[in-house]
Amino acid sequence: MAENKKETIVMFPFMGQGHIIPFLALSLQLEQKGFSIIFVNTPVNIKKLRQSIPPSSSAIHLREIPFHSSDHHGLPPHVENLDALPYPLVINFLQASRSLKPLFTSLLSDLIRAGDPPIVVVTDIFFGWSAEVANELGLFHVIFSGAGGFGLACYYSTWLNLPHRKTELPEFSLPDFPEAGKFHVTQLAASYLAADGDDPWSIFQRENLSAWSKSDGVLFNSISELDKTGLAYFRRKLDRPVWAIGPVVLPAPARSGKRPDISAEKCIQWLDSKPLNSVLYISFGSMNTISASQMMQLAKALEQIMNINFIWVVRPPLGFDITAEFKAEEWLPEGFTERVVQTQNRGLIVSQWAPQLEILSHKSVGAFLTHCGWNSVLESLSQGVPLIGWPMAAEQFFNAKLLVEEVGVCLEVARGTSFEVRCEDIVDKIEKVMKGDSVKGMKMRKRAGEVKEMIRDAVRNDEVKGCSVKAMD
Ligand code: UDP
Repeated sequence: MAENKKETIVMFPFMGQGHIIPFLALSLQLEQKGFSIIFVNTPVNIKKLRQSIPPSSSAIHLREIPFHSSDHHGLPPHVENLDALPYPLVINFLQASRSLKPLFTSLLSDLIRAGDPPIVVVTDIFFGWSAEVANELGLFHVIFSGAGGFGLACYYSTWLNLPHRKTELPEFSLPDFPEAGKFHVTQLAASYLAADGDDPWSIFQRENLSAWSKSDGVLFNSISELDKTGLAYFRRKLDRPVWAIGPVVLPAPARSGKRPDISAEKCIQWLDSKPLNSVLYISFGSMNTISASQMMQLAKALEQIMNINFIWVVRPPLGFDITAEFKAEEWLPEGFTERVVQTQNRGLIVSQWAPQLEILSHKSVGAFLTHCGWNSVLESLSQGVPLIGWPMAAEQFFNAKLLVEEVGVCLEVARGTSFEVRCEDIVDKIEKVMKGDSVKGMKMRKRAGEVKEMIRDAVRNDEVKGCSVKAMD
């Protein structure tokens, strides 16, 4: 590396919190390695990022690239983030994001003209077009996926093949990824079910994914040992280098600018008073929630399992304003908080946002009931905590499949938000994972412990370098 002038890396995530967070985490790591980072995004996202970047990060330079949603058919004005959009408009937003191509091209050209060509341009999985831009300018380009290899391989292959359209049966396999095993239609997000190959989603995905082949390689926020099948799929498919550099995790305070509703100290104090492995942590990520009837059934299940404690991030159920204040009397069974939380002291209810990393690293936490978002998965496994999966959207269903079938650290309790769940089934699954004498639970905990060691080895950076550290180098 240059002694005086730092070499530049350009980072350009898609405009969505779940995309921006891993890019920011990677930027912080690269900054520590001595690079100067130009972090590109639209003005609203850049404004938010100013609050998330630690003041010590003087080598991360934020760069705005204008985007006017009202120029695009179907989008309301001033939309610059996926998270603010109702689901049917997501595809319009993805299509509209291609209009960033000329602006991104001039941004890179300006850097070249100024004598500061980036040594690598790192862009999002949804910006396939950027590979061609970098190629034409003679710049090295990689795609960075915040999602895991297996989840993204299933996502990619399902879009390219639409295998569920070719059978009447509810089960199918992926023609170019048979080693992933059998899938069930309940594992497909709504956009796949409506797709016929000529619809806007299929067209966008096909064009985007075929553009990946112009990239010089793909980085995954994953661990090669954990994610062999999915990473092998991309190596085979793209004939490009594929590197697993994870887990790349953002330090808690820098996360999305959200402040926990309960302090980490308070959670730790409460957890300290609970026996080893006795607490179930429940959270469905940064945006997902369950239906009102599912929430009732989950609460009833928690009340029934007397010897299990819980920390539950309770968001407004579907149909409520997502910023609504917590309403126990409307969302939970009558008297639930008084009986279970106050009298029995068996639970902590957190509205909106919990200090997840701190909770998962406490020895009292015995399992994590999760939507299987990839960050949550990596955070849980880094602490050796087994999972109870309730995937809801995108590639979460495929992540759950990997964790259940290949890794052996997860039991699925439910799928999606449109199905009824039964209290008895939830009780059964939680007990299978958490009860001290459950053989299944013991096996999963042992396996989660092994995966924790695997992850620790991957990021070792002493006399022995782990595989993620080598891949990053
Ligand atoms: N998170 C958190 N507190 C919460 C909910 C989520 O800190 O109450 C963090 C969590 O640690 C993870 C991220 O938000 O880093 C969620 O990412 P994930 O990929 O699991 O799911 P997504 O929100 O993208 O669906």
